[in-house]
Amino acid sequence: MMRLRRPGLSSWMALAVVAGGFSGYWWGDRMTAVAWLGTLFLTTLKMLIVPLVAASIITGITGLGNVRRLGRLGGLSLAYYASTTLIAVAIGLVMANLWQPGVGVPLGAPASTPPPAHKDLGISDLLLSLVHPNIVDAAAQMKLLPLIVFCILFAAALSTLEEKGKPVVSFFESLNEAMMRMVEWIMHLAPVGIFALIASKLGATGGGEAFMAQLLGLGRYVLTVVSGLILHVIVLCLLLAILAQRGVRDYLRHLAAPLLTAFSTASSSATLPLTMEGVRQAGVTDKARRFVLPLGATVNMDGTALYEAVAVLFIAQAYGIALGFGQQVLVLLTATLAAIGAAGIPEAGLVTMVIVLHAVGLPLDGIGLILAIDWFLDRCRTTVNVFGDAVGAAVVGRKMESDHARAKLQRIV
Ligand code: ASP
Repeated sequence: MMRLRRPGLSSWMALAVVAGGFSGYWWGDRMTAVAWLGTLFLTTLKMLIVPLVAASIITGITGLGNVRRLGRLGGLSLAYYASTTLIAVAIGLVMANLWQPGVGVPLGAPASTPPPAHKDLGISDLLLSLVHPNIVDAAAQMKLLPLIVFCILFAAALSTLEEKGKPVVSFFESLNEAMMRMVEWIMHLAPVGIFALIASKLGATGGGEAFMAQLLGLGRYVLTVVSGLILHVIVLCLLLAILAQRGVRDYLRHLAAPLLTAFSTASSSATLPLTMEGVRQAGVTDKARRFVLPLGATVNMDGTALYEAVAVLFIAQAYGIALGFGQQVLVLLTATLAAIGAAGIPEAGLVTMVIVLHAVGLPLDGIGLILAIDWFLDRCRTTVNVFGDAVGAAVVGRKMESDHARAKLQRIV
């Protein structure tokens, strides 16, 4: 007799996405009654972020054995982040030029929701955001970039202390293990949390009819962003197969939980604990995983970069302002920086887009044109952001392993 396999957690999570979508679609704002369940899941995940990021980065670096290897790990990670983000923006630019989603879009009355408050963001602000005068305050405010910079320096210092540094290293090793155990427990909340997050968000935006109206109103724009994101996912899968030499299907299977969580929370930072667990289960070496993922969740945002490029061209087209080749190169560079500067929280990309609009002299009010559907596109781009980080861990991990094997061989010969 054929035995039925019990559905795994990922299947329950996939079911939760579908059920949440249907409930929000049909029952509209009545579903906001379950929003607290989503908040419970999200807050529980967020609770782990600070200790997990600190323990993961510190043990990732001290585990390298020799602080000089940090240069290699950092260099490889940054090279991966920068090149994939540039590819993503380039895809966005090509798609927006081909599909011309903004042409003929009526500017109409100013949007009912005002664009997010902005201040003049520049490159110096980006560099200044790397440090914070009080590390406890940075952690309390969930400013991850300064926390990561502090942990990198702290771990580098620890690795030079040899025997004297060992008690602190073992403390963070235990902290890291305990955090990962908590992630395993919290994952069981995921199906309910995902269902509630999706149903209540779709419900709050007015249910099925309102969603369809938003989709149809900005149909070509949504299609351009989504098809660009799909193309970029294909590029990432190729990198995974060629550079990391991993089976794409198998890797995706391990990543189902973080990807579905990214879609429902629209936050790469909140998803980080699950991304760490998924990539660990996929067998990526600790050395790469513990360093590449926390840093990637903060600075590596391929989906956001692609979306910003499309959105800026959309706004230019809607206003009838032609952007020449030089200006599009400027979009390429500034959208990459804007994506690095965006925090891993919902709709952060919408705020840093100001950098790109400024650079090419477009009206900031243009953001009002794309606000209505941003909550949905945010989910799509966050999923790609998380996938990009996970592929990065595999690619860098593979490279570190082959370096290690080569060094070992040289020692033998
Ligand atoms: N929500 C995105 C993330 O967390 C950032 C953004 O594009 O708004 O990755």
